[in-house]
Amino acid sequence: MSKKLLLKDAHIEGIRYFETYRKQGGYTAAEKALKMTPDEILEEVKASGLRGRGGAGFPTGMKWSFLAKPEGVPRHLVVNADESEPGTFKDRYLMEFLPHLLIEGMLISSYCLGSNTSYIYIRGEYSWIPDILEEAIEEAKAAGFLGKNILGTGFDLEIYVQRGGGAYICGEETALLESLEGKRGNPRLKPPFPAVKGLWERPTVVNNVESIAAIVPIIDITGAEYAKIGVGRSTGTKLISACGNINKPGVYEIDMTITVEEFIYSDEYCGGIKDGKKLKACIPGGSSVPIVPANLLLRTVNGEPRYMNYESLADGGFATGTMMGSGGFIVLDEDQCIVDHTMTLARFYNHESCGQCTPCREGTGWMYKILKKIEKGEGKMEDIDLLWDIQRKIEGNTICPLGDAAAWPVAAAIRHFRDEFEWHVKNPELSQTQNYGLAHY
Ligand code: SF4
Repeated sequence: MSKKLLLKDAHIEGIRYFETYRKQGGYTAAEKALKMTPDEILEEVKASGLRGRGGAGFPTGMKWSFLAKPEGVPRHLVVNADESEPGTFKDRYLMEFLPHLLIEGMLISSYCLGSNTSYIYIRGEYSWIPDILEEAIEEAKAAGFLGKNILGTGFDLEIYVQRGGGAYICGEETALLESLEGKRGNPRLKPPFPAVKGLWERPTVVNNVESIAAIVPIIDITGAEYAKIGVGRSTGTKLISACGNINKPGVYEIDMTITVEEFIYSDEYCGGIKDGKKLKACIPGGSSVPIVPANLLLRTVNGEPRYMNYESLADGGFATGTMMGSGGFIVLDEDQCIVDHTMTLARFYNHESCGQCTPCREGTGWMYKILKKIEKGEGKMEDIDLLWDIQRKIEGNTICPLGDAAAWPVAAAIRHFRDEFEWHVKNPELSQTQNYGLAHY
């Protein structure tokens, strides 16, 4: 059984309220942290090996150490709660059921970074959660854990919740900052990075909800102990939101030592494929990471079991591996049509492109149109090559990672499931009435 650090108290009734959270030992990590120096906290975070839980997996301690500290200029912590990646809903769970864990993490992190005004930027579709967060903020303030002179330390902190307007692109950190400043959420060119010029041109750290929540157990048990959980550079625990054709969709906390096979088939996690069907493929890290067929999902190219961690999932690079990403684990059974699935994703990225860069603005639309044509049985063989060509021209040629995120699913689908694309071209009538999965398995 995986060790639980973040969700250990999630089952306790009333844990979302201050009184219950406090009774379970809540805010003791904050009390401990406020007796430490900011540098000591930073060293603990570095020692923990925590990697950003939003998708990129960049070491959090290193990110914090890049924060510029010019004299007299305010600094900010911004929590990225714009969880819009298809298949990803673990931050929603944390905020809905454990809002004080996030606020305690923000208090420790803000103290370490020297931020007296911190923000939670939350996606507009999570319409009921800002009220939960704001209530928790008021409770923490009434108990002396937010506001002026927290616990008599002289440290002040205000936390504000800002609702987004429902644009996926605002999950990209610089687009998020633009939106938080009241502008259209267009990604900025980098450099300068937010650590130097972020919110209102001030040094800013933008971190995912889960990353900030993980700061609490890190301070609680120490960075060194946190680093002992997991394996290699995949330290600590990771939240996975599992969905698709499985028996038990939900949010699971894993310690990154379990195999993918165990995660899918064990009753402790996904409980196997629905209706006893065969596993066809999986997108293990949210819709932006490459899809992997069952054989390469369960085993690496060397025949080793594949594990639920950053290194093992990426084993083999983009040609055969995939990525841990945001932990949005989407399972597809034997009946699913890869062309249809890829078309749905292409439509999503086309809709969410902000339109600043030509390869993304035009390319995502072309990919969607071609995929639609193939899926309807109106495509030609050369359309598959054209699709491949377009995705290659998008990748690496855009301002922000949305371009890559739109290209990778198409590339992986063609690489691993070209036969399905060809079947649609060769069977125009059949492809209108049934899909490749139903026809072949
Ligand atoms: Fe906008 Fe797409 Fe360019 Fe990102 S890659 S800046 S979403 S057009």
